[in-house]
Amino acid sequence: MSTELLRPAILIISDTASINPQSDKSGPALTEIFASPQHSKTWAIPVVKIVPDDFDQIHNTVKEWADNEDDRFNLILTSGGTGFAVKDGTPEAISPLIHRHAPGLVHGMIAASLKVTPFAMMARPVAGTRNASLIITLPGSPKGAKENLEAVINLLPHACIQAAGANSREIHAKGIKKLEEDAGVPSKSTNENEHSHGHSHHHHHHHHNHNHDQGHTIPKAHTSPEDRPQSNDPSAGPTRRYRSSPYPMLSVDEALKIIAQETPEPVIIEVPVTTDLVGSVLAENIYAGEAVPAYRASIVDGYAIIVPEDGNGPRSKGIFPVASVSHAQAASMPPPLEPGTIARITTGAPLPSNANAVVMVEDTVLASATLDGKEEATVEILTDDIKVGENVREPGSDVSKDSKILSKGDMISAIGGEIGLLASTGTRTVKIFKKPTVGVLSTGDELVPHDEPVPLHGGQIRDSNRPSLISCLRAWGFETVDLGIARDTPAGELENALRGALRGTSASQPAVDVIVTTGGVSMGELDLLKPTIERTLGGTIHFGRVSMKPGKPTTFASVPYKPSSSASALGGQQQQERERRLIFSLPGNPASALVTLNLFVLPSLHKLMGLANRNNSSPQANTTTAVGSGLGLPLITATLTHGIPLDPKRTEYHRAIVSASRRDGRLYATSTGTAGVGQRSSRVGSLAKANALLALYPGQGVVKEGQTVEALLMGSLIAED
Ligand code: AMP
Ligand code: MG
Repeated sequence: MSTELLRPAILIISDTASINPQSDKSGPALTEIFASPQHSKTWAIPVVKIVPDDFDQIHNTVKEWADNEDDRFNLILTSGGTGFAVKDGTPEAISPLIHRHAPGLVHGMIAASLKVTPFAMMARPVAGTRNASLIITLPGSPKGAKENLEAVINLLPHACIQAAGANSREIHAKGIKKLEEDAGVPSKSTNENEHSHGHSHHHHHHHHNHNHDQGHTIPKAHTSPEDRPQSNDPSAGPTRRYRSSPYPMLSVDEALKIIAQETPEPVIIEVPVTTDLVGSVLAENIYAGEAVPAYRASIVDGYAIIVPEDGNGPRSKGIFPVASVSHAQAASMPPPLEPGTIARITTGAPLPSNANAVVMVEDTVLASATLDGKEEATVEILTDDIKVGENVREPGSDVSKDSKILSKGDMISAIGGEIGLLASTGTRTVKIFKKPTVGVLSTGDELVPHDEPVPLHGGQIRDSNRPSLISCLRAWGFETVDLGIARDTPAGELENALRGALRGTSASQPAVDVIVTTGGVSMGELDLLKPTIERTLGGTIHFGRVSMKPGKPTTFASVPYKPSSSASALGGQQQQERERRLIFSLPGNPASALVTLNLFVLPSLHKLMGLANRNNSSPQANTTTAVGSGLGLPLITATLTHGIPLDPKRTEYHRAIVSASRRDGRLYATSTGTAGVGQRSSRVGSLAKANALLALYPGQGVVKEGQTVEALLMGSLIAED
């Protein structure tokens, strides 16, 4: 039987999966398709191999698979590395291997993906044959890889059989009709298939209007979904309220994709060069306005001399009168050397105009002192080996005038190197991407400011979210505005707080670019956020539920905003694009609020501050895929020090302490509390001491002690014995 089956091979291309094969979800997803009853009669179970994002390993593996006559694969799929991130190089590694290109397959896959997301345009797949193998590059995400394969799989047997050298006339003999039938394609497309397919993961702009997975639990609407807001009408009584959320449950990756899509391009401003620049990303290439050094300078302490250009004539060795002294100090240049004299010179000082080398003080001895014994009269140079230019920095030899010193996308680091370059070349202003200002608002009648010196009564609780979120945002380097507490009643308080935040109310409360609220996004009757954003501010809720734990009711919206005329941003076009402001409405539970701030708000702020334009040389600085290229928290893998039970449905972001072991250099993760209340989303304490969020994907049972898991690093690593 196996001789009859077509042989597929899958190459997973992922730095993460190559370290931790268990984290690879695409291999299993693709294997499942081949193993399905529909395809298992045609295809053997695929061979799966994982390599890092490395040109040679990708290129060589695929070449080996396609060139080995005895053990050739009919179909070679790759998954990963087809995007625009710096490390994405799969198409480049594969293209040179292809003998005959198959642009039709590429076209078909992109067309299929475009029905799901406009991000399909960002894929750079290649397809074609090498020898008797058909090679196709698929995206790295399990969902994308699966969708792309499904778009073409029915056509592949035909292509593979032809590529393997079968007589094409025989294949076509039954006519195109039969071919299409075999491939499961109706000759005249009715599009019916595509529709039912599209719904399940429709997440474009109007995604929240699709309620298909809610069935009868939602009130049946009589208006068209496009015409009405999804949030509750707060003036309607409890009997008219939704009993379950009308917002579709998105995966974390889908939510991150929407955030990336809805976050505006960064705004460019011109600012003076000061230490305030630290943490900003340059929006332009910077060219040196001045040369460094500006004059010919000595690299050592010693004596400026004239050595013969051609090696003939007088050499450097001998006893010479010391004619002058040049210190590294302001204004005056030393006089030219009289023939046969030398000048004492200090490090960094200018050379006499006709001197052409410096002999270091170590290569000399004092020959005679002045009569008062205080100064050198003559000095003996002990070496004859001094060459023209030795120990001299020519003007502009460190940085030549007008050369590029920094690039658009470079981050001004706290290390100081970039500021130093700007300062040394006299750069006075630079264009940077404006870092967003973030306003933080707590909502809820029950909240009491944490520092109000009164005992709590009734159902009151301290507002802990505001100080904890503000600290986190400040630690990331963002300006914050404390927007206080908005009570649920009286009506209008929330609206006023949001409008005031967008407009700015005073010098101490300037307008913000992004609003982060906590509380009021569950299904309770006082949960006013969604209705206020949609019905009062005319905003759009991009999503209102995410399949994760904690953080399920996380809501992301944008509201229209009229910028004031005194806007300082450069470039009218960008200014127009910013006539929308983002609102992240995070759940009220303290752990949920901090987790979702880290997971969702940070990547958006990173895009707003220009980090997507960053020249990111570290492939490790990556996130949970969807927002991509270095935005958000860094993703690491760590070994569990104990077992943790999995949630069967939702991805859990488990608060943990990750430490670097001095014993074996590996990273170990320990939960801040698993038993019962440990990770409960109301528990502020689950985040105290935590420096990482373990991403525990849904599953049955327990991840065991000693297994590796993915973790998003929130704080710095701790060293442990
Ligand atoms: P909500 O999302 O408003 O339903 O709130 C969910 C839970 O989080 C409730 O127990 C709230 O009391 C609590 N909560 C809401 N806001 C805060 C806050 N700012 N600080 C601490 N706990 C809060
Ligand atoms: Mg509330």
